[in-house]
Amino acid sequence: MNFETYFKISYGLYIVTTKSGNKLGGYIANTLFQVTATPPQFAISCNKDNYTTGLIKESGVFGFSVLSEKASPALIGNFGYKSGRDFDKFAGVNFFTGKTGSPIVTDSSVAWFECKVTNSYEVGTHVVFIGEVIDNGSIEEKTKSLTYNYYREVLKGYSPKNAPTYIEKANVEALFADQKKQLDVWQCQLCHYEYEEEKGDPITGIIAGTSFLDLPDDWTCPICGAGKMLFEKE
Ligand code: FE
Repeated sequence: MNFETYFKISYGLYIVTTKSGNKLGGYIANTLFQVTATPPQFAISCNKDNYTTGLIKESGVFGFSVLSEKASPALIGNFGYKSGRDFDKFAGVNFFTGKTGSPIVTDSSVAWFECKVTNSYEVGTHVVFIGEVIDNGSIEEKTKSLTYNYYREVLKGYSPKNAPTYIEKANVEALFADQKKQLDVWQCQLCHYEYEEEKGDPITGIIAGTSFLDLPDDWTCPICGAGKMLFEKE
């Protein structure tokens, strides 16, 4: 299998949300696309283990926010690498309640949609939901949408394990092995972000060549917000 070919496919990045009863759910998705124009319908592919997937099945609705290129990595980490079963992902996040009742996140987003589920398909580990657009709006018209390539190449983010586009860590490492032969690399055990000493961390303003051990004690993973103690040397 040629894993590099999978990295040639680009996507956007979205926060998919829903509400069932008084339970709010949300997660970061890249597998979202428009499937029909009349009526406008979108498809999303959700892992069956995700808390939000069960809530969408119950509520029959979902919303999604289109993330901005300036999206906060901490927000992506909050919705992408933690489970809503364990804590409230919406605490401290700006959102409003849409017509479908879905919580629509407005932080770090350029536009939003909300949909009513019209169909769903069980596909192995995932469920594909089709949803017809009920309402939408724009938030920050002048900011570019975040693409998955930008997330991977500039923000150095990876797909979490539940993502349809997840690729095993060993295979990702094999792909980039040539590029990091002489680097001391520390990896976040939560989201797999890698701090490369030779490159530093432009996102948090750490200059190239800074040893991991010299990073400030309160430095946190730019993708998921994990503290230094959650990093391991490769
Ligand atoms: Fe992390």
